This record gives sequence, structure tokens and C-alpha cells, in this order.
Amino acid sequence: MKRLKYFFIFLLILSFQLLAQRNSYVILISFDGFRYDYANRGITPNIDKMKKEGVSASSFQPCFPSKTFPNHQSIITGMYIENHGIIANKFEDPFTKEHYRLGKKSTTQSKWYLGEPFWETAERNGIKTASFYWPGSELDLKYRRPTYVKHYNQNFPYYARVDTIAKWLQMPNPIRPHFITLYYSLTDTYGHRFGPNSKEMNFAISRVDSVLGYLFDKVKKIGMKDSVNFILVSDHGMTDISPKRVVNYEKILNGLKYKTEAGGPFLLITPAKGEKEKIYKRLKTNEDHYKVYTKENIPKYFHYSKNPFIPEVIVIADLGWELVNNKSLKEFKAHPMKGDHGFDNHQLNMHGIFFALGPNFKKGYKTGTIRNIDVYPLLCKIFNIPPHAGIDGKLERIGYILK
Ligand code: AMP
Ligand code: ZN
Ligand code: ZN
Repeated sequence: MKRLKYFFIFLLILSFQLLAQRNSYVILISFDGFRYDYANRGITPNIDKMKKEGVSASSFQPCFPSKTFPNHQSIITGMYIENHGIIANKFEDPFTKEHYRLGKKSTTQSKWYLGEPFWETAERNGIKTASFYWPGSELDLKYRRPTYVKHYNQNFPYYARVDTIAKWLQMPNPIRPHFITLYYSLTDTYGHRFGPNSKEMNFAISRVDSVLGYLFDKVKKIGMKDSVNFILVSDHGMTDISPKRVVNYEKILNGLKYKTEAGGPFLLITPAKGEKEKIYKRLKTNEDHYKVYTKENIPKYFHYSKNPFIPEVIVIADLGWELVNNKSLKEFKAHPMKGDHGFDNHQLNMHGIFFALGPNFKKGYKTGTIRNIDVYPLLCKIFNIPPHAGIDGKLERIGYILK
């Protein structure tokens, strides 16, 4: 009888614990292209608060290629790019000849997305979710979207996004989202336009930091300061580029037949039938300020070969160099972009940020580089739900930041 009593007490404690975890809240914020060191410039008082009162990583490593859509998918699915399928911001299905293109309707077509985003995992476990933007959040299948989702508009006012989140958090409990994403593009836009070391860049950094401060205030005002976890990340960093540091691949490949995707920091080449060896050899002989690989010999640490849509030849420019053709070189010289990303993801300048603050996180805890694929299993742990099978992220590499 006594034993049975203890067993019931144990069950009661367990269910309270589970309930507490289901009552967790996470707001996952992404500042596009916010480089790992922008938060060390002394102009981000709100990020400084996260550092002091929460967890801060020295950097946040993206996957290759260090581009926006591929990396937002890696963060939200816990998968390498070759596995979740969004292999670039633009690419082709070589079998159907259909294209995936950032900013086009194709980004809402479910068939391109092979991973399970965290909001899908959460909803299946009875947790409501919402998104005030995240690349890949507007899919054409209802069960693959958050319950509340906004159609992307880059110019939608920054503070009003936060106001909506506060409204979501005040909805009646059964329909209230517990996991919410929030996204801002400003730091990426300014990084490209003015370069990571410009005074304009510092303006953009301060601006998004103020929005973060507004979010903290808003959550405090609605009385949820002690129950909400904030995780602030970025998809990649940014590095200086110049028309003086270019490699013209069109010149090198003169006379050979091929198609390309991307360009700039990396180039994807689909050789015409029978041209692969010649193209690879030509690029290998001229290998200067870039590295050329085939799908077979690209080093394992890039995790960029398994997907059928990854073309046969992959070229990666050295940090700060751009792979151009005659047309793009002309454009670059006429309107020089000052910064870019997409390079080797092991280069520190391609790294982003990771900060976390809230009831589930350690206080004043500093750690080294965190990999972006490890955020998904971290979210599963916070909400106490099982991760989807076949992910690449590992809780062992990140779980220590939780209390
Ligand atoms: P990139 O610098 O080329 O890797 O991509 C950055 C661009 O992606 C920015 O200009 C954003 O406006 C755009 N972007 C970010 N999120 C979304 C979204 N959910 N839908 C469409 N475009 C987006
Ligand atoms: Zn980006
Ligand atoms: Zn960008």
C-alpha cells in the first residue's frame, strides 16, 4: 500500500514537471548576417544584457554555403544543408528543370523542404507555434507551417512585429503560441551595401539591438519576463569584398560547355555531357584564390555532396574573393557591393551569433562556438518533446547551456 502511495506521488511530480516544460516559452530571433563580432563593438546594450544575464557563445557556425535560406533551414530543422535540401538561395532540380528561387513562389512549395522544422515537431506534440517571419515558414501544406504565420514583407515596421508577438502571447492559453520566431534583414542589407566595418553598419547594429530592447520591455510589461526564453541567432556573418579581388571563371572556362548557379563566394557548375573532367582539370590547373571540388572529392567537413540537386562541380572562393563572369564583373565594377557571405563556413568571418536568456538558461555563462544544427535538439529538450529522426544536430554539444 505504502509503495503504491509513493508511486502515485512520483507520477504526480513527473506530470507536474512535464506540464512545466510544456508551459515553456521560446522566442527565437534572427538578425540576418549579424557577424559574430558585431556584439563586441560596445553599441549593443540589449545584447550585453543577454551576455550578462544569460548564455553567450563566442560564435555560431553556419553550414556551407553560408547563405540565408539554407542556414535558416539548418537552424530550424537541425540538419546539414545536403540533408534538408535547400542547397542554395537559388538552384535547379536537374531532373524536372524546375527552379527554387529566393523571393519567388517556389520558396513556399513543400516538396523542396526535406527536413522537419521545429514548429512542425512542436505542433505534432500539441504545442502551438507562430512566426513573424522565418525563411521556409510559409509552406503550402498547413501541417508544415506554424499555426500563426505572416507573409514576408521586408519593409514591415520593426517595432510593430514585436507588438504582434506580445498580442500572440496574451491569447487564451489553448490557442496561445509557445514557440515564436522573429526575423530582421537590416544587418544583412547594410553589410552588403556598406561593408561590415562601415559606420552605416554600426547604425544597423544599434537599430536591431534597440528592437531587441523593445521586445524585452514588451514581454516584461505583459508580465511574462520570468517565463519567456529568448534565443538570438544569426544565419551567417559578412566579409569585405572588392572588385580588385575577383576570379573570372568565364575566362578560365573559355570554350567549355556548362551551366552555373550562384556565383560570388561560391559557384555551382553543371557541366554539359562529357565536359566534367575537362572543366574540373581546367579549374584545378588555374586554382588561385579559390578551391575546386567535384561532388565526390569535396571534403566531408562541408557536408555538401549527398543531395541529388548539388551540381557536379563546386568552386569555393577564398575569403573576400568573388567568382565572376564577364557580365557580373561589369555590374560589380559599376555598383560595387562592399560585403558578402556564402564562403567556407569554417572561416570565422562567416560565423554569426548565439545568445540565450531566460528561465531555462544558465546565467552569465560563456561558451565557445556553437553549431547552428544543434539549436533544433536544444528546442526539443526545452519543450521535452522527441526530436525528428535523422537529424544532424546533437544535444550533447549544446545541452550544457541549460540550467
Ligand atoms: P542573402 O543575403 O542573399 O542570403 O538573402 C537575404 C535576403 O533574404 C534578404 O534580402 C531578405 O529580405 C530575404 N528574406 C529573408 N527572409 C525571407 C522570407 N521569409 N521570404 C522571402 N525572402 C526573405
Ligand atoms: Zn542571411
Ligand atoms: Zn546576404
